[in-house]
Amino acid sequence: MVKVKVCIIGAGLTGISAARNLPQGSYIVFEKEHDIGGLCGSEVVNNFYFDYAPHAFFTSNQEILRLVKETLKTNIKEHIRRAYIYTYGKYVEYPLEVNLRKLPRDVAIECLIGVIKASTTPKQNPRNFREWMYAAYGEGIARHYLEPYNRKLWKYSLEDMSADWVIGRVPTPSIDDVIKGAFKSVKKRFGGNWLFYYPKVGGIKALVKALASDVKPVICNAEVTKIKILNGALKVCIRRGDIVKEYVFDKVINTSPLPDLVDYLEDVPSNVYKAAKELKHNKLITIGLGYKSHKNIRYHWVYYPEERYPFNRVSYPVNFSRYTVPKGYSSILVELTVESQKEMRSEEIVEEVEQKLKDARAIPEDVKIMVRFIKNIKYAYVIYDLSYKDKVRLVKEYLRERGIITAGRYGEWAYMNMDHAIQAGERAAQELINEVEKRKT
Ligand SMILES: Cc1cc2nc3c(=O)[nH]c(=O)nc-3n(C[C@H](O)[C@H](O)[C@H](O)COP(=O)(O)OP(=O)(O)OC[C@H]3O[C@@H](n4cnc5c(N)ncnc54)[C@H](O)[C@@H]3O)c2cc1C
Repeated sequence: MVKVKVCIIGAGLTGISAARNLPQGSYIVFEKEHDIGGLCGSEVVNNFYFDYAPHAFFTSNQEILRLVKETLKTNIKEHIRRAYIYTYGKYVEYPLEVNLRKLPRDVAIECLIGVIKASTTPKQNPRNFREWMYAAYGEGIARHYLEPYNRKLWKYSLEDMSADWVIGRVPTPSIDDVIKGAFKSVKKRFGGNWLFYYPKVGGIKALVKALASDVKPVICNAEVTKIKILNGALKVCIRRGDIVKEYVFDKVINTSPLPDLVDYLEDVPSNVYKAAKELKHNKLITIGLGYKSHKNIRYHWVYYPEERYPFNRVSYPVNFSRYTVPKGYSSILVELTVESQKEMRSEEIVEEVEQKLKDARAIPEDVKIMVRFIKNIKYAYVIYDLSYKDKVRLVKEYLRERGIITAGRYGEWAYMNMDHAIQAGERAAQELINEVEKRKT
């Protein structure tokens, strides 16, 4: 490969994966935070490990699975998912659709009638996410579970969301399994994450650290603040504390969010700027609590569709790895999404969250909290509104023409999991190598 100088913006999974696939000496990775990992970050507070958001690694791509297993070596544990939905005062195993017998009888009957009606109604293409859930699962399941849960999670009008992201993500059990599950346990696995992996030690960040072991240089506390397009090159300003330095690169691989990128990229045409700024997302507050406990709840995570609970999901790190807590202790990670326009008043809600966790019996009533951890995440879920595809295409094309390859969950504005982010980095590196090879010939 011809020696090119590549600036990689961001040391999350995508940026690290891109760097791994480029020759050393051809790139520099800049990360604005104090450490690598991005959304797959973890922090240790008084010997409790808290992930920035709970992460379970799963994939249907055997090459990526092999890479992750080989990279983590012995620091990996396989899990069979134990996920539940807490509703009507009961824990119903996920997916709820095949466990209707666990619901109160009247609710179960309503759900079952809805599923049967939906399955016998001629299918029309759903115009939005809400229509999709009613068409796929019927009135009862949509009304009692899917609609309240998804309103709480997305903090966005379900009528204005596309159903594109659903395929392959939300399990759609057959009508036979739903009916069977209304009467007895269905012995089948549903959803891609029924089997997942998690590092034994180090939280989910251990995966990014292991993948990054040969990636050099990665400069942390280094924020890209300006990119100027010169003749065939890119001038990039990096801020480290009070000092701003200028570098000239041949190429940029961006993994930072598109709405931020257009702010620090100079001379962006107004239509491209507007398209990037109109991309929709929500925010996330993660609250971690560490406490003394000898009796652990055995679930990995639990969804909370009911409005009376402010959180959409809680998870129990000790069930991902017992090394996430000191011996004799336990912890819980609570997720609350926030509308993108709203401020994240995380400190103000901790007390209410703790009380609601007790009400839901997610933590013991007499619990003594030893450690509190709060993480505010500005970009959490990308939201596929009805026109996101055109906007993303416009922005990506503009960037490509100017020598900027944009990749990853927020760089491509795509609902990516960790395996997709690793692949996105590989694709970005390959695209760059192909371009350079083409230039040579
Ligand atoms: C709540 C939640 C739960 C999830 N759970 C799972 C799960 O269970 N399983 C799974 O497979 N996936 C899960 N994911 C998805 C997974 O976290 C992402 O796919 C992955 O982390 C995306 O990596 P990325 O590198 O594309 O983005 P990021 O991790 O966001 O990395 C981008 C990096 O760029 C840096 N950056 C931004 N701007 C600049 C700048 N100007 N200069 C320098 N650096 C900059 C950021 O600090 C960041 O480190 C979850 C996501 C969320 C939100």
